Amino acid sequence: MIANQIDKCAEIISQQRTFFATGKTKDITFRLEQLKKLERMIIENKSAIIQALYADLHKSEFEAYSSELFVIKEIRKVIKNLASWAKPRKAPVEVELFPYRAQIYPEPLGVVLIIGAWNYPFQLIISPLIGAIAAGNCAVIKPSELAPHTSQLLAEIISKYFPSEYLAVVAGGVEVSQKLLAEKFDHIFFTGGTAVGKIVMAAAAKNLTPVTLELGGKSPCIVDSDIHLEHTAKRIIWGKFINAGQTCIAPDYLLVDKKIKPNLVQELQKCLQAFYGENPSQSPDYPRIISQKHFQRLVNLLSSGKIILGGETKSEELYIAPTLIDDISVNAPIMEEEIFGPILPIIEYTNIQEAIDFINSRPKPLALYLFSQNQNLQQYILNTTSSGGVCINDTVMHCAVSSLPFGGIGDSGIGSYHGKHSFDTFSHYKSVLKNTFSLDLNWRYAPYKGKLSFL
Ligand code: NAD
Repeated sequence: MIANQIDKCAEIISQQRTFFATGKTKDITFRLEQLKKLERMIIENKSAIIQALYADLHKSEFEAYSSELFVIKEIRKVIKNLASWAKPRKAPVEVELFPYRAQIYPEPLGVVLIIGAWNYPFQLIISPLIGAIAAGNCAVIKPSELAPHTSQLLAEIISKYFPSEYLAVVAGGVEVSQKLLAEKFDHIFFTGGTAVGKIVMAAAAKNLTPVTLELGGKSPCIVDSDIHLEHTAKRIIWGKFINAGQTCIAPDYLLVDKKIKPNLVQELQKCLQAFYGENPSQSPDYPRIISQKHFQRLVNLLSSGKIILGGETKSEELYIAPTLIDDISVNAPIMEEEIFGPILPIIEYTNIQEAIDFINSRPKPLALYLFSQNQNLQQYILNTTSSGGVCINDTVMHCAVSSLPFGGIGDSGIGSYHGKHSFDTFSHYKSVLKNTFSLDLNWRYAPYKGKLSFL
């Protein structure tokens, strides 16, 4: 059954509660079977997924694999490790508390809600879902309406492979999201903008529902003068213009040491041309903007400074050329909001402290990038800034390392996931203490007279 009607929300949640109560999802064999089924679902529908991503974002097959379908690898890793993650663990007990035995039991949360964003519309649903399944939950899934082809496909294939009392996609827009948020869940995992994140958290608070908020923000990229110029340019251009800049951890703007700026700008231009050719609108590898509304917002930002490369737009194709902008005022609109598109402002600094102070005067970003071979500077930046994650001498790649928790801090989010961290996010760690009847020491019982020395 494809659950795409707003009035079915309550019924689906109630069916999932009944299914969860059977205890079936707690069985590790069941969870492993579902993960294998999810893997099979992706493999058997690979072409349709690639087509949907192309229809929504003009995403190339390479980007579809490398940034969306790679979740298959995550499924395989989880399958390999699940039995060990799900085992109760012994916890040490203080000697004076003998003969207690302590254990920590991971247990599923129940029925969880996963709300996705449109920029990586497949993996932003499947990646948290892997954690939800692995930890033994039922899930209601709300993909983004702005990627309608992927959203519809997710609804079709998930309903084909899984019963809706276990996993159900509720497709639709803001009104569906609001309807779901009015219901009680055991966890809400939300990916999207900071403003909507606040709405989600306020709705969750009414039911004391815990949340994971994977939000956005302006991720700065500092470029020191002590770098390998060509590698730096390639890694910045790749991280910024993959998915046409519509990536939550894309370097939002550059803060460049004045001494290196002319050389860097030249190398960035060279690199852009090498990646996408003289006319990127003809490149099969360059995506499009998601909607007319987002296109218009980005077009307005183009006038924030001096365009040194790019700037061409085609409204009918939702095309914006990869663009480098110089002479930016730090108060320009482009420096106020998350760009989330193919426009890269370049700001220079003369002293690294200026760059650090600038970053620290703004909301904490999801990612922070530093290009520098100077190990003292690397450590100094780590010690003096705060961000969801940091990647040194590269961009975006930290999110591919599943042992690293992926998430924000402050305005860029709450909580984290990927690999074991996803399992943790969707689990409750239940503390269990066992005593025996073989011994019963009197030190804690009244009358207390003369017993203070035990404490
Ligand atoms: P968005 O916040 O507009 O929408 C996200 C989801 O929330 C969608 O499913 C949408 O239907 C729903 N929604 C929108 N308005 C709502 C409302 N008023 N009430 C309830 N639900 C509502 O975000 P978006 O435009 O889809 O995605 C872009 C943002 O997401 C960017 O800020 C980006 O940085 C961020 N993002 C973060 C991550 C991450 O992992 N941290 C990943 C991708 C995107």
